Amino acid sequence: MSKHIVLLPGDGIGPEVMAEAVKVIKALELDITFEEKLVGGAAIDATGSPLPADTLEACKHADACLLACVGGPKWAGAAYDKRPEAGLLGLRKEMDLYANLRPAIVFDALIDASTLKPEIVRGLDILIVRELTGGVYFGQPRGITDIGNGERRGVNTQVYTTSEIRRVAAKAFELARARGGKVCSVEKSNVMESGLLWREEVTKLHAEQYTDVQLSHMYADNCAMQLLRTPSQFDVIVTDNLFGDILSDEAAMLTGSLGMLPSASLGAGRASLYEPVHGSAPDIAGQNKANPLAMILSLAMAMRYSLGAPEAADRIESAVKKTLADGVRTADIGPNPVSTAAMGDAVVARL
Ligand code: NAD
Repeated sequence: MSKHIVLLPGDGIGPEVMAEAVKVIKALELDITFEEKLVGGAAIDATGSPLPADTLEACKHADACLLACVGGPKWAGAAYDKRPEAGLLGLRKEMDLYANLRPAIVFDALIDASTLKPEIVRGLDILIVRELTGGVYFGQPRGITDIGNGERRGVNTQVYTTSEIRRVAAKAFELARARGGKVCSVEKSNVMESGLLWREEVTKLHAEQYTDVQLSHMYADNCAMQLLRTPSQFDVIVTDNLFGDILSDEAAMLTGSLGMLPSASLGAGRASLYEPVHGSAPDIAGQNKANPLAMILSLAMAMRYSLGAPEAADRIESAVKKTLADGVRTADIGPNPVSTAAMGDAVVARL
């Protein structure tokens, strides 16, 4: 059955890296159609809104959405709801994308890019599943109040419900089934009630439906330490919004290079958004220098998780590995760099 992708190039290096993903889509010769829509600063300039209604509508009906990046100094002074980032946050919210997937994979050819010793990170392949729409970033009450005598009080509320925990844990268990078969659930149940509920609900769901997956539990502070000590002990890590924010960035840096990191955000049904972890890199925008591999690897994730084409995902990932093994580098990952377009061509040549 034909699949449809919405492409959101966004700002800065976005259009440059997206063009390389488009080359890959075309080279795969699958039954996939695609259309481009505006988001972020580009959408503000054209329509006044960072998330125009027709973009949101198209994204809601697509089999997968592929976003490059948004933002830049041009829009930095605007009100929060008129900034490019509001387009991205709006998409996540409107599509109820509650599970954020951040793989941390170390490619053999780039093992020296990590600040950790090669023997610690060799062959690393971790997937962090972060709850994205609940927890302390959204909990009420929140705010800063004046409590007199020159004192102020800042409040945020960490809050989770059974269904919020179960749906993200279910995603983690299902992903683990297709990978190494292990889930580590991470919270602070020793000091937080929301963490205790998290642990209880994950344990219950596991016993009900996922006993074929190996489940372990870990406190978030220990997990932060274990990620640096023996990262290879992990397969899938599932955790809340706040701990996931921090631990996924930590895991990302085990790989050593921002231009290589894809991500996915999944909701119910077909709702999905695939995007590189990096931003719009205004310092190198328009110079044909950006590394398109995070964008291309995000496309591979879309093939695997939303477009029913896992063999296409394997082909893309193998082509990227081969490109790196052959010594092709953009400026962020090595000497004698090639351009963005040449990196995309090199991947296509190896598909
Ligand atoms: P950034 O990720 O854009 O850039 C950080 C550094 O990494 C820069 O030196 C940049 O040149 C480099 N870099 C990033 N991606 C690269 C790539 N593909 N190839 C080579 N080098 C790359 O982060 P920043 O500078 O903090 O933010 C710039 C803008 O991007 C801001 O407006 C920020 O709000 C936005 N941003 C957007 C997203 C997103 O769209 N998801 C994420 C982070 C930041």
